[in-house]
Amino acid sequence: MIKYGKQCISQDDIAAVKDVLQSEFLTQGPLVPLFEEKLCDYTNAKHAVAVNSATSALHLACLSLGVGVGDLVWTSPNTFVASANCAIMCGADVDFVDIDPLTYNISLSALADKLSRAEIEGSLPKVVIVVHFSGQSCDMIELAKLSKRYGFLIIEDASHAIGARYNEQMVGGCCYSDVTVFSFHPVKIITTAEGGAILTNSEAIAKKAQLMRSHGVTRDLIGQEHADGPWSYSQVCLGYNYRMTDIQAALGISQLAKIDEFIFRRTAIAHKYSYEFASGNWITPHQSTGQTSAWHLYVLRLPEHLSTYRKEVYTNLQKQGVGVNVHYIPVHKQPYYQKLREYTDLNEAEKYYASCLTIPLHPLLSQQESDKVISAAQKEIERVATR
Ligand SMILES: *Cc1c(COP(=O)(O)O)cnc(C)c1O
Repeated sequence: MIKYGKQCISQDDIAAVKDVLQSEFLTQGPLVPLFEEKLCDYTNAKHAVAVNSATSALHLACLSLGVGVGDLVWTSPNTFVASANCAIMCGADVDFVDIDPLTYNISLSALADKLSRAEIEGSLPKVVIVVHFSGQSCDMIELAKLSKRYGFLIIEDASHAIGARYNEQMVGGCCYSDVTVFSFHPVKIITTAEGGAILTNSEAIAKKAQLMRSHGVTRDLIGQEHADGPWSYSQVCLGYNYRMTDIQAALGISQLAKIDEFIFRRTAIAHKYSYEFASGNWITPHQSTGQTSAWHLYVLRLPEHLSTYRKEVYTNLQKQGVGVNVHYIPVHKQPYYQKLREYTDLNEAEKYYASCLTIPLHPLLSQQESDKVISAAQKEIERVATR
């Protein structure tokens, strides 16, 4: 089976992990801070806080921005459930904004409309979580304008987009947002097995995230209110164990050194796909100007009149060993979210979902494999189009 995505591990990654296993610290040693420093260097963010998953990072991002009971958080329905769950974990309500039919990111015109209605109704969101779908950034300049006008905070869920550029800045630099989150799950651009990170330019946000990453416990108060002795530590808020291990950080450092190579490979394959699928019935992903994608996913769409064949095409390609996938079932369609409230005006997200198909894309995909993906997908669409 040609997988839609997978990690790219080489001998130097293995050696880096082995070194940690033979060292003094498996966790809370020197490598997590070093990985954080390298993430800052790479993205130009002032602070990075590495954690055990992007889900934890999103949770801490919301908590650090003060999201709580009675707050509203808006996000895109075209994402993994974690982008919305993080706000629910804080006790907030979640609503969704429709997607742009070209980029499949949150639609800024739909957002602007929804904000103007919410202002009248007195139900503006505290935070908007945007998702850089497939590795392509949202229009952050326009988003930042809306944030100023309506007073909401911005979290970028850049789980797909470490290494992407927007307006000549690296995604993660938080030029137009309060916090950015990365995922290092094996299918993403670089991996630490499980892992994630928070990037921010705010020292206050970074400090809160660091504290809550480790039980809300600090040793900074020694000599102050809880000074029983040199062993003292103080829990000052409710926290979690969301720490990354040094084993994971070692892998992350080793992987980050190769990120340009990974994205170069992904981009080359994506360009080949876009060239080959330019003729025929498949709809190829739109690339916005003024930015470069990290190419986490390559998503084809069936034209609307052929959408009814998506399941058949999916099944046939799977049978031929082409590991296609669907990203994503709109989050508001999940049974859990259906029970919470009603959602309106998400037509583009639903139309997109009915017609999308992710084809394999990762750095280790061989020319032979991408050729097979192309010919199998072309044959399938021709077959259903000529019915
Ligand atoms: C993968 C992913 C997550 C969750 O990442 P984990 O590191 O697995 O917790 C969140 N949001 C998006 C958009 C993702 O793709």
